Amino acid sequence: MSFVSSVDKAVSIGTACHCTDITSLRQRFYQLSIAVEQSPVAIAITDVKGRIEHVNQRFLDVTGYAREELLGKTPAVIQSGETAPEVYRDLWQTLYAGKIWRGELLNRRKNGERYWEAEVITPVRDDLGEVVNFVAVKEDITERRRQERELKLLATAFETGQATMITDAEMRIERANQAFTDITGYREEEVLGKTPRIFKSGRHGPEFYQRLWDSLLQSGHWQGEIWNRNKFGEVYPLWQSITAVPDDKGGIRNFVAVFHNIAERKRMEDELERQATRDHLTGAYNRRAFDATLRHSIQQAELDNEPFTLLLFDIDHFKQVNDRHGHDVGDAILKRLAERVADTLRATDILCRWGGEEFTILLPDTRLKGAAVFAERLRHQIEGARLNGLAVTISTGITQYRPGDDTDSLLARADDALYRAKEAGRNRIVVDSECQPV
Ligand code: GH3
Ligand code: MG
Ligand code: MG
Repeated sequence: MSFVSSVDKAVSIGTACHCTDITSLRQRFYQLSIAVEQSPVAIAITDVKGRIEHVNQRFLDVTGYAREELLGKTPAVIQSGETAPEVYRDLWQTLYAGKIWRGELLNRRKNGERYWEAEVITPVRDDLGEVVNFVAVKEDITERRRQERELKLLATAFETGQATMITDAEMRIERANQAFTDITGYREEEVLGKTPRIFKSGRHGPEFYQRLWDSLLQSGHWQGEIWNRNKFGEVYPLWQSITAVPDDKGGIRNFVAVFHNIAERKRMEDELERQATRDHLTGAYNRRAFDATLRHSIQQAELDNEPFTLLLFDIDHFKQVNDRHGHDVGDAILKRLAERVADTLRATDILCRWGGEEFTILLPDTRLKGAAVFAERLRHQIEGARLNGLAVTISTGITQYRPGDDTDSLLARADDALYRAKEAGRNRIVVDSECQPV
């Protein structure tokens, strides 16, 4: 295309070279013929009626026709019939005005295949200034157009898809999309060249990142839950999937990380878990969850001899409260009571609504003596409190784990101690007498 004038006017024969004698003119003609023939773009020369006088090899390769099939014909042979009529109107108007036409045409190869061409058509004048030929230089841009379309499509998918960031092999961020900004708070230009270290929440130790890297480098992939910090300092959980993109030499060219925020999902899971393990009136653990915890504590005690105690307490004369003040008031008292008790517990202690107005408490790492002190303090607090405006008292039975215990034996002893507390007049604690403090 280099010898095509970039000026928007017709080329006159003779102006292309300043040769004087006929030998060097022939020489120059020969050189230019080679250049045309070897050109990687298709070239056609037509007369003023558009009849083909010359085509180069590339023209034949692109169209699939033999030279004889084209000479004397017009380029209508390769027209697809799908280019808009205005394009041709513009083309002929431009050429007849003696100007160079540039544009894109949808043509058809001999085998019927459509292809796009970018064309530059130049009118050529003779010495008298008459247009005598057209020179068309054409580039097959089908593949380029396809790639452009594909790139546009991928760009749209990238921009509208899940939060994505692309890094180089050293994990420096090269691209990030809108969803990335929505989740992290960082705009793409704020993170370019930085590494994902800027998202570190401090929630994971070095071994977490070591495992991530090991998996990424060994299998080319890692996915899992990760806690990150956003631009505003908030820490949130993500589900992240990182894939290594290999280069041609077996190394890594890029990493692509796709992620979504799972804070809401985790909140729902926590809520479901809460609902499954808690009593809905008081928020204390339910019997099923307590049972599991108690079994676990027994296993632990069997392994490491750690003591733990079990408390079972029951509100005194609660039937009367219901009878006098109604069931709703009774419920409100149960709620307040559970809140009060929960306030006195350590994080590792477990409160459970065992049933009705009966509660259990598991005190890990606690012997009978400590448990009795705790239970007495609790009894005293409840006695002195007004729950929903009413005074209530509790009776408590206490027992400690003994080797060979199962949940039933433990609960039976606590129940027995509670029974004795009731028998002895209520509002008191009774420690399982057979238990020897360990
Ligand atoms: P005591 O324990 O001192 O022997 O007497 P009590 O009247 O508390 O007797 P008991 O523990 O056997 O009775 C349980 C009563 O607790 C029966 C019922 O009226 C009340 N109760 C049990 N569950 C609930 C509940 O979920 N809500 C309300 N409001 N009352 C309950
Ligand atoms: Mg009772
Ligand atoms: Mg009861």
